[in-house]
Amino acid sequence: MLASFRNTKVMLRSAQQVRAATALTKPILASRLYSSPAPQSSPKPNQFTMGQSSGGGKKGGGRSNLIFGFHPFAIFASLTLLGSGYLMIVKPFLQWTDKQKEERDDKKAEVEGASYTAEQIAAFPFDKKTVVFVLGGPGSGKGTNSARLVSDFGFVHLSAGDLLREEQKRPVSQYGELIAHYIREGLIVPHEITIGLLRNAMMDHPESDRFLIDGFPRNLVQAKAFEDTVCKAKKVLYFECPESILLERLLDRGKTSGRSDDNIESIKKRFRTYVNDSKPVIDAFAEQGKVITISCQGTMDAVYKNTEEHMNKFFKEIGQEPTPSASASAGKKD
Ligand code: UDP
Ligand code: MG
Repeated sequence: MLASFRNTKVMLRSAQQVRAATALTKPILASRLYSSPAPQSSPKPNQFTMGQSSGGGKKGGGRSNLIFGFHPFAIFASLTLLGSGYLMIVKPFLQWTDKQKEERDDKKAEVEGASYTAEQIAAFPFDKKTVVFVLGGPGSGKGTNSARLVSDFGFVHLSAGDLLREEQKRPVSQYGELIAHYIREGLIVPHEITIGLLRNAMMDHPESDRFLIDGFPRNLVQAKAFEDTVCKAKKVLYFECPESILLERLLDRGKTSGRSDDNIESIKKRFRTYVNDSKPVIDAFAEQGKVITISCQGTMDAVYKNTEEHMNKFFKEIGQEPTPSASASAGKKD
């Protein structure tokens, strides 16, 4: 009785061993059914040696060519699918959301200029005004020289950057946050806002015939929009200055200016915007023969003296007295 019980136990144990052995050999058998048999001596492949160029692995057939358990073709096909999925779905979607954002910004901007009625705007003699754009890299001396031109030639000085900063600070402004973001990032605020502010500022000075518009237009779209909706500039003053000097000046100015964009990160972004977007505007005006180039190197007095001489010449050319007929300034500093 005891013996037969022991025998049963032995039989049961051997049955378990058989089952265990079957479980182990099953995948090997299965793999042999679908691939050419590996030689007896070859080591059993495992997930870390699979796909490596060991002789046994190679001769083992399909399984041994897998990469981390996947067939290379499957990987290639998935990557291709992912790539085309990105190009066909994700990229257009991202472009669409960017466009939506731009349209939202433009819509907001349409409201700008509401301080004058459409009739008042239409009746204002923008075309009769002498508009001079003052351009150059950030920190090139646009504001400094503009301030002196105001007292010598009777211009009204409108700094686009200052007008935007004033608008940003106005507690009820709906553009405050938007403007703050664009300025900090060294980007160009949607042109409808800036043009609206400039047009309002010109209309605030109906007595003046001369306007210096400083730091605008900053890209070709702005330039065209201003010409189409306000008026054409008669001349462009371009303060030419190497980037190394601009950087030095801006970092120095940053110690006291309190401006959100006079720090190294914003300065780099502003330089990029200047080279990519603003410099082409100067080139386009140069082709029209409108640009007066002034080197910003030298003392402040020397730079201004050069500017003043060019301005005297310009007024003679257009048959006007250089002496001021009115003076005011809506801008403060460069
Ligand atoms: N800005 C703009 N549109 C303009 C003028 C200025 O978006 O037509 C923004 C832009 O982000 C720019 C910032 O205002 O970097 C400062 O302009 P500002 O003219 O004050 O700079 P500056 O060239 O005098 O250092
Ligand atoms: Mg300025």
